[in-house]
Amino acid sequence: MMVRKKIPEKSVERICRYREILLEYQSIGKEFIFSHELASEVRVSPAQVRRDLMYFHLKGVPQQGYRVSEFLYEIDDLIDPKEVQDVILIGVGNLGKAILSYFTHKRPKLSIVAAFDVDANKVDRVISGCECFHMRDLQKFTREREIKIAIITVPAQEAQAIANTLVESGIRGILNFSPVLLKVPADVYLECIDITTSLEKTVYFSRGRR
Ligand code: NAD
Repeated sequence: MMVRKKIPEKSVERICRYREILLEYQSIGKEFIFSHELASEVRVSPAQVRRDLMYFHLKGVPQQGYRVSEFLYEIDDLIDPKEVQDVILIGVGNLGKAILSYFTHKRPKLSIVAAFDVDANKVDRVISGCECFHMRDLQKFTREREIKIAIITVPAQEAQAIANTLVESGIRGILNFSPVLLKVPADVYLECIDITTSLEKTVYFSRGRR
């Protein structure tokens, strides 16, 4: 079996953004895209796109660019897991519910299969299209279903304890929305989305622009 080299984080991020643009092109019936068009849509340099293109076996068509369907196929092949990846979500509050609703059928290879909470009013029922269980069922569920990926949307003060439980349950990738710098073992991949920091960054970099 051919083992592919790991692609750097920033490239993976860009490639996922390329996919969003390509899907948009596909939805409006555009069959081709030039690398410079993609660069301007994603707001990176054309040279950067050309470097990223080296991860693919794409052949451009003269005067037309790259075939969108082929490009999408190559991205799916490079980025997506071979089987559908089951994901769980912890904390079915305002944000948790929004993510559950947003993510249903968003990507064919990713599925949020269960959510967990401690609130008696939220467990053992379907919320935003997803089955919601009590936290006490989490370990059993993740072990039996071999779940490796989890999303944390609990209040800040609960997040580290939840992360610890997830790691003990065999979770190997965490997407954390709580504004806490979580500590996880080195072999667990942690991605954090902190809206406040992003907004502060936006305010900082937009200052003085006309
Ligand atoms: P929320 O209070 O609406 O929801 C939190 C949920 O977590 C509740 O359902 C609660 O019962 C559950 N919970 C609490 N302790 C738990 C535990 N130990 N185990 C399992 N579930 C538990 O909060 P929210 O607004 O959805 O925010 C959730 C997190 O996301 C917070 O850390 C917040 O800072 C962050 N966040 C929220 C937003 C937003 O727009 N709401 C945006 C960015 C980040």
